[in-house]
Formats: sequence, C-alpha cells, structure tokens
Amino acid sequence: MPATSLDQIISLCKRRGFIFPGSEIYGGLQGTYDYGPLGVELKNNLKRLWWKHNVYERDDMEGIETALLTNRYVLRYSGHEKGFTDPLVDNKTTKKRYRFDHLLKEQTPETLDAIAASFGITRDPDMDIFVEALLSDPSKAQTALKAAKVVDALDGKPGDWTEPRTFNLMFKTQVGPVNDDENFAYLRPETAQGMFVNFKNVLDSTNRKLPFGIAQQGKSFRNEITPKNFIFRVRELEQMEIEYFVKPGEDEKVHDEWIQDHIDWWVNVVGLDRAKIDLFEHVKLAHYSKRTVDILYNYPTLGFDELEGIANRTDWDLGSHSRQQDTLTLSDNTREKVMPNEHSVEKLTYFDHETNKHIVPFVIEPAAGVDRGVLAALCEAYDEEVVNAEKNDIRVVLRLKPALAPIKVAVLPLAKNKPDIVNKAKAIKKDLQNQLGMRVVYDDTAAIGKLYRRQDEAGTPFCVTVDYDTLGQSKDGGTELLDTVTVRDRDSMAQERIAIADLLGYLRARLV
Ligand code: ATP
Repeated sequence: MPATSLDQIISLCKRRGFIFPGSEIYGGLQGTYDYGPLGVELKNNLKRLWWKHNVYERDDMEGIETALLTNRYVLRYSGHEKGFTDPLVDNKTTKKRYRFDHLLKEQTPETLDAIAASFGITRDPDMDIFVEALLSDPSKAQTALKAAKVVDALDGKPGDWTEPRTFNLMFKTQVGPVNDDENFAYLRPETAQGMFVNFKNVLDSTNRKLPFGIAQQGKSFRNEITPKNFIFRVRELEQMEIEYFVKPGEDEKVHDEWIQDHIDWWVNVVGLDRAKIDLFEHVKLAHYSKRTVDILYNYPTLGFDELEGIANRTDWDLGSHSRQQDTLTLSDNTREKVMPNEHSVEKLTYFDHETNKHIVPFVIEPAAGVDRGVLAALCEAYDEEVVNAEKNDIRVVLRLKPALAPIKVAVLPLAKNKPDIVNKAKAIKKDLQNQLGMRVVYDDTAAIGKLYRRQDEAGTPFCVTVDYDTLGQSKDGGTELLDTVTVRDRDSMAQERIAIADLLGYLRARLV
C-alpha cells in the first residue's frame, strides 16, 4: 500500500536516517532539516541524475556554481528587494501567523464568497488574483475577514484578524566587521540571479552561440512565513535551475519543449507516476514572466502541489542587470517596468552574427526544488506490503529506482561469529565497492531476516548473502555451491544463487 500520509514518510526518514529536524537537540530551528546518512546519498543521486540529463547529455549547456552571499544590487535590479514578498495575516486571539493565501485556501467556498461580497468584488477563481485584490485595501480586507468569519484551523473558531500585509522573504546578513546599514548582503533567494549576472562571463569564456543554457544546483534561502509540511516548505532549500537563452521569438516553442522534457525526466528517471503529475498554468504572472507553468506532484496529505516551475522570463533579467538600457532593444513589458540601472558596469547582450546586431536574449527557466524532488521520490517509492496476513507480517519497502537508491548493494554474512564467512563477505564488499564505484555496505549487526527488512526500508535493490554453501560447507556435505552467494531482490524478495565470478556483471546489468 502506498503512503497515505506524510507522517509515514517523516517517520521512516527519522527511523532510517534519511532526514532529521535541524538543530534538533536544541529544540530545532523551524524550516531547517539535516540530511542523514541515507538522505545525503539519495539527494546527491537525484542531483547527479539531473546534472547528467541537463548538462552532460546535451550539447548546449554549461554548469556553474555561484556565491550564496549576494550583492544587494543584484537583488535590487532583479526586482526581489521590492517584490519578493508573501502576504501575511495574524490572528490576535491565537497569536498564530498565516500566509494569507494559504489561510484563504483552507476556507470554504462560501466563506471566500462572503469575503468577496463584504469587500465589494466578485471573487476571482484564481487565488493569486483574489489575494492581490484584497491587498489593495488592507483595512477593508480586515473588515471582510471578520465579517465572513474566517476560521483559524488552530482553534476552529473565527479569528480576530489583523490587516493583511506583505513581507519580504529575503534573509539579510552582515558582511565584514562593521554592522551598519550599508555592510550587508542577501543570502540568495534563488540560484537564478547568479546565472544572469555571469551571463557575459560564461558567454565570453565558452564562445557559446544561441540557444544555450546555464545550469546550477545549490542552496537558496527564503524566510517563509510558515515553513511546513516537512521538507516541502523550508527556509533553507536547495534548487536545480536552468536559464536557457534563446533569440526572442523562439521562446514560446522552446518553453513547451522544456516542460515536456522535464515531465519526462521526473517520470522516466525519477520514477514518478505520470498519473500523479499535473500542470498548473499561472494566471497571475510575476513581473518578469510572459508565461509560467508549474509541474505539480500529488503528495500524500498535501495533494497536488508544486515540484518545479518553468517560466518564460523574457529579456527581463538580462535587460534589468544591464547598464545603458536605453541603448538596448527590449520587449515592451521589460522596457515599461525595468528600473533604470545605475550600478551595473556591463551590458548583458549577445552579438547576433546573422543580423549584425546586439540583442538581449529571452530566457526559459526550469526551476526545480531538490528537497521537493527528494520528497516526491520518497512518497512514490514508499510501500507497505503485507508479506503474511495471518502473522500480520508487513514490510515497509522503498521501491526507489536503483539509480536513486542510497545503497546499491548490502553484503550480509549469514553468521557473524564465523570468521571465514565474515572475511569472505567483507572481501566481496570491498571488491564490489571498488568495481561498482557506488555505495556498497557490509552489515552484520542483526539476524539475516532483520537485515533484509532494514535494507528494504533503505531502498537497497540487492542484498548479497554469504553462507556456509559459499565456503563449500553445505550441511549435506555437497560442494556444488562453493563460491556462490544468494542475491535477494528488494522488490520481489526472490533469491537467486549466483557464482561470485558472475556477481559483478549480474549487479551491473540491474543497477543502471
Ligand atoms: P511556492 O509557490 O510553493 O512558494 P515558488 O513558486 O515561490 O514556490 P519558485 O520560486 O518557482 O517557487 O522556486 C522554484 C522551485 O524551488 C519550486 O518549484 C520548489 O520546488 C522550490 N522551492 C521554492 N520554495 C521552496 C521552499 N520554501 N522549500 C522548498 N522548496 C522550495
């Protein structure tokens, strides 16, 4: 049976060492999580597969890694200083703070209609547009929330709501020894800006021609109003982002291609069920966007929610980070909204040899969350299987794709007090480790049945068991199983006897 609640995933993650709450022994730090021994392997595998698909297997991509500490002007001209905000509202009775749109999503349609009626508008079915309308008059919105008896889930009663207001999500930090208003930087809220400000550096050092893209993976920081739902919404997150630069006019077609390519990647490489993936077409667009489509995954407890956003950012970012914008050819939206840039020393343009003109490329941005990807992979793989109904024997098994599995092979001795068996098992482990170049473990800390179940929960595709037969010491005195081992398949629990000489080939063929 698949997971029906996030709690099952959270409990497995803690029990088996995938993910722990951050700073746990001091009571935690909200919105932070630490990846444990299995979690770091799973996460690295996800990132590696993404990099392989998006950088190595294409001929039009470069990878970079940019600093987390970011000059404030980068985030001023990107629009983050002004616009990277979420709306919040407080309940004075429960002292609980909510992201305004999240609070409204928890209300009944009747309550939402009552808010709209009290505010004097018809409710737009798109929540982002409805919220924007309410924020245009916070005092009236406050009255409407109270009149419509908007409920706080904490106590199930209508709240004493404050005026909704916006809150900037960026973290500021002091840079250098002097703590004043000037000496600060932002922790980047997305990896994207590092790729825009390095556009010229990458272009000049690689001689790329359009279309081409830059990929980056790494941490981003968002002071989320209410971090929640485990690693789905955290304050320190990791992203995998691409900025793909195209000639204006080619953007719409390329956008569709990236959406399809990434749906296919989540399904074929990560193993997500296509039926649990949906698309959301944004109606209200960010200031830079011409079109944004989210790839949603059907998480237990949460339902369909965002896994990746794929936006057409037009020429906004390159145009906005350029000096002398009046000399550039910009799209109407960017020209209209862009802030005159008084600090950049560069023009982020591309010389088009076909037209002999400098152009500002358009950008398609597939932006995925590593943590949300890890969570989706765990939810998809989780299975509670009834092994024996009469004995109420249920095993938890993570049916991860082998390429994602934190441990590929576990080598287990049947008896840990028999030095010959132990030595043989350790030698096989070492050999497999060297040859496979993937994580192989040796474990003798419990009886074999328990060890199998432990590896099932870790998602280990194969267990190799070394026993008396391996040493030619069968109970019946036969030696035909000398130098063979038992290989147990995680998913079927079927066991096969394989010659040690064939083991590497057997595993290699099945671990791709
Ligand atoms: P949301 O609407 O859920 O707040 P977003 O639209 O602001 O997300 P983007 O700015 O498009 O997110 O970021 C790209 C990706 O980064 C998202 O699709 C998501 O996978 C991930 N991401 C964004 N914010 C968080 C967060 N607080 N915790 C974990 N992952 C996040």
